[in-house]
Amino acid sequence: MERLIVISSLVHALAEGEAEAHGGGLPQPIVSAMAGRNALWFGWSGKVTERFTGSLKLECCDGMRMASVDLDAADIDEFVNGYANRTLWPMLHGRTDLAEFERHFTDGYERGNSRLARSIMPLIEEDHLVWVHDYPLFLVANELRALGCDNRIGFFLHTPWPHRSILTALPDHARMVQALLCYDVIGFQTEDYRQAFLDYLESELGISPIEDDLIEFEGRCIRVLALPVGIDAAEYRDLLASPEARASHQASMESANGRSMIAGVDRLDFSKGLPQRFAGYDRFLSARPDMQEQIFLLQIAPPARNDIPCYSHIREELEALSGRINGKHATSNWVPIRYVNREHSRQQLAGIFRAARIGLVTPLQDGMNLVAKEFVAAQDPENPGVLILSKFTGAAAQLKEALTINPFSADELAEAIEQALKMPVAERKRRWRSLYDIVNREDAAWWCDSFLQRLRGSSEIERPVLLS
Ligand code: ADP
Repeated sequence: MERLIVISSLVHALAEGEAEAHGGGLPQPIVSAMAGRNALWFGWSGKVTERFTGSLKLECCDGMRMASVDLDAADIDEFVNGYANRTLWPMLHGRTDLAEFERHFTDGYERGNSRLARSIMPLIEEDHLVWVHDYPLFLVANELRALGCDNRIGFFLHTPWPHRSILTALPDHARMVQALLCYDVIGFQTEDYRQAFLDYLESELGISPIEDDLIEFEGRCIRVLALPVGIDAAEYRDLLASPEARASHQASMESANGRSMIAGVDRLDFSKGLPQRFAGYDRFLSARPDMQEQIFLLQIAPPARNDIPCYSHIREELEALSGRINGKHATSNWVPIRYVNREHSRQQLAGIFRAARIGLVTPLQDGMNLVAKEFVAAQDPENPGVLILSKFTGAAAQLKEALTINPFSADELAEAIEQALKMPVAERKRRWRSLYDIVNREDAAWWCDSFLQRLRGSSEIERPVLLS
């Protein structure tokens, strides 16, 4: 049995309400991947304390062991909402223009990483593997090493890794990347991100790989992998059989009333390309007035990170845009965009995906995009919907049989909608089969096994072949 400690900034099962409030994508693959392993999950509890004490709360929930600590208000402002979400998130998604650089954010980030590392250190035993997740925790291994931890520590980045011309706009970028080199294994979602990281190392730090996926730094060897995160496809298909998913599917079919539903499901984030998506849909409606009333767009986008100004701006922009498009094209018995800001359960979403004729996944930049994989898993094999997918998602490197588009081009999106609506069922079935095979084969368990195999230091599992 594995002796594993998984660290993410937020232990979400303990704090789902807070996870939504802070706009964290729910780390479902981590939950799936940990099931049945002898793992301990550690992170922030989601709760705010007046004074940080570092005292651990230990719990067991759904067979998973969890340890968490409360952070103080300054940690939340400067570390979680500050450096992680206002500085790093925009930078990693190529939006230097939206990134905020504040010295106290940097200090708060270092303090937050240090506090989490110090809190978990007493529970790390000699034979534990430690697996740290995502951009809020770049510095954890550095902190653990300073405390004397010489366990194998791995890191997986769920977001993109940007080109060095973007990253070098981050003050202290070299210090941050050097701290990252305290991990033994560093995983990225795609080969492109991995290459961008290696390119940064070579040009900014003068570090060249000694083998294709191996670098050496200060006498240590670090593996740098591309390993796309997967969903638990079998579990997702089981979800479809739940009463809630069935009811959601039936309600969606009834409400579509013979019209083809185009579905979009995203957190309301600037990286998701929602204004561009609405513009492409508007372009289609204008080009094909004969198709109006036969289709509609259901866009589900619950607000996230409301206390950050650019998130309220995008919310206002989308309200104005959907109002304008509806005003322009609607008739007395048809509304072209149903724009919904409410949260939906996984079961409800599964039912909606199955009822959709088209899934629109069009981010401007996205590390992976799990919605694309969930949409594929939810389809009826005999009458599957078509996935329209941005080429700037990590998922596009695997899901080659989707209709891949440039999300910045309204024309490309409009043409893809037309192609999807006209696509014969035989072609839809052929494309879906290939998409589902990859979603099912490279699933959450495969991702987790492959990463841990590398972290243990063995190379029995072959490198993924589909990452170009
Ligand atoms: P991100 O992590 O950037 O939010 P992903 O698509 O990779 O984007 O993952 C989002 C996860 O959150 C998916 O599992 C998806 O089903 C879920 N999700 C996305 N949008 C919504 C929504 N509107 N309501 C409920 N869950 C959502």
